[in-house]
Amino acid sequence: MKHLLPPLPYDYAALEPHIDARTMKIHHDMHHASYVEKLNAELGKYPELEERTATWLLRNRGQVPEAARKIVHNNAGGHVNHSMFWRAMSPDGGGEPTGALADAIKRDFGSFEKFKTRFSEAGSKVFGSGWVWLVSVRQEGGKLQVETTNGHDNPLTQGHFPLLVNDVWEHAYYLKHENRRPDYLQGWWAVANWVEVERRFGLASGPVAGELEDEVGLGVATMA
Ligand code: MN
Repeated sequence: MKHLLPPLPYDYAALEPHIDARTMKIHHDMHHASYVEKLNAELGKYPELEERTATWLLRNRGQVPEAARKIVHNNAGGHVNHSMFWRAMSPDGGGEPTGALADAIKRDFGSFEKFKTRFSEAGSKVFGSGWVWLVSVRQEGGKLQVETTNGHDNPLTQGHFPLLVNDVWEHAYYLKHENRRPDYLQGWWAVANWVEVERRFGLASGPVAGELEDEVGLGVATMA
């Protein structure tokens, strides 16, 4: 079994003008591809990990041999996070969530606008490379909260279920926005894919799924 790079669910230019085609091509075809390649190369040394999904590797890093732990964690995270990120955006995105997700955002943040401000501010403050997330905390009855992670860490390692994610590594925005990360974060709302976030919210609110079901649900099931 090998991990595979999922195709982008839209054209490179589909998110213009908010994210330019050249950034999308480099980001997907080179950055994401290299995480998948390095993950497969490392796992090739450990047949006992061959059947493990990328989300399992993130959640069970203690079971990865110590010599491989860091490289597997970083590259499995890069693979999972980017797979989620592509689907968190859509050329038909923007607007506001509806239904139960809209209610939960209002319950936990006060309003959709307050949530957006919290998310954008958190993303702006990540020092160096990282990610900003909206997560559902199952241990607290599905409470929604904004979190940030460094490098390619993923909230799954804390047992939190990721719903929405934005990549704040410089490679995600530097060609167009240079050092102006807040501008990127502000414009990005126009491509946020609430249909996908609502679908993930449904999964987070349901029974705890098995390893593979979670991976499929998150859009990362790309092993062959
Ligand atoms: Mn990235």
